Amino acid sequence: MVVIVDTNTGTSGREGGRPRHPEKVNRPDAASPPKPDWIRVRARATAGFGDTRHIVRKGGLHTVCEEAHCPNIGECWEQKHATFMIMGDTCTRACAFCNIKTGLPGALDDNEPEHVAEAAAALGLAHVVITSVDRDDLDDGGAAHFARTIAALRAAAGATTIEVLTPDFLRKPGALEVVVAARPDVFNHNLETVPSRYLSVRPGARYFHSLRLLQRVKEMDPSIFTKSGIMLGLGEERHEVLQVMDDLRSADVDFLTIGQYLQPTRKHHAVHRYVPPEEFDAYAKIGRTKGFLRIAASPLTRSSHHAGADFVRLQAARAARL
Ligand code: SF4
Repeated sequence: MVVIVDTNTGTSGREGGRPRHPEKVNRPDAASPPKPDWIRVRARATAGFGDTRHIVRKGGLHTVCEEAHCPNIGECWEQKHATFMIMGDTCTRACAFCNIKTGLPGALDDNEPEHVAEAAAALGLAHVVITSVDRDDLDDGGAAHFARTIAALRAAAGATTIEVLTPDFLRKPGALEVVVAARPDVFNHNLETVPSRYLSVRPGARYFHSLRLLQRVKEMDPSIFTKSGIMLGLGEERHEVLQVMDDLRSADVDFLTIGQYLQPTRKHHAVHRYVPPEEFDAYAKIGRTKGFLRIAASPLTRSSHHAGADFVRLQAARAARL
């Protein structure tokens, strides 16, 4: 999942006496440059925000909006747009950019799919985004739980379109097929960064595995929209970003999101630089010429930001091409 966060507290944070990221505690601090004005957002304590929080809490659910300290949470929750994070709040990977708690997760909650469906209905979501922590501890990586959640959403709110943002299901044969067979409307899996940065940013993952995952979704069901995202500011070069675009188009990916990486704490990967908005605009222009049905690129672009509106545009773009 793309998780770009905005706290920069200078510590790894602790919960119940346990650090959120035990594997990072003894790392040296990584200094990032000061944030430019264009990256700052205002928190909004609105009625809509309160309603969203109430519905999320009532269902005992987790959201990536909160767990990742997403900078867009004020805007999104005010409009009752939340991205549910299923299968717990603890991730089995330890990516250098991510603020999700690391450790051994607990057992799956069998009632979670229904609780997600109830919360999506209560929020009145026309389009829902479901993501998860990595569950390398499960035989299927959590694929069946994804499928059950999709089925519960279809049963509770048939008109709601469904987007999944999945882990890579590395070394989980058959897992991807289970999620694709559940027929989400959009299948998103984020490459996160360019291949040369994988070892330091996403050491537990493999670039070509992630790329091939996206390609296989399209091979199995061409009606599903495919989507991926990367973060800028992690030390990537421009030509590498363009190569990622070409790779994604070769895998027939429809939609690319590009956002600025923000450092969660000083124990996380440093921000190499803050990419100015004009550079994002230039990447968006190039991406369109490369044939993506849609490309969203700005400092605060996140995988699930405006996902509902983007889905409508995706459908229109596909229809226009047919
Ligand atoms: S951009 Fe996505 S993760 Fe961030 S607050 Fe909005 S819905 Fe949540």
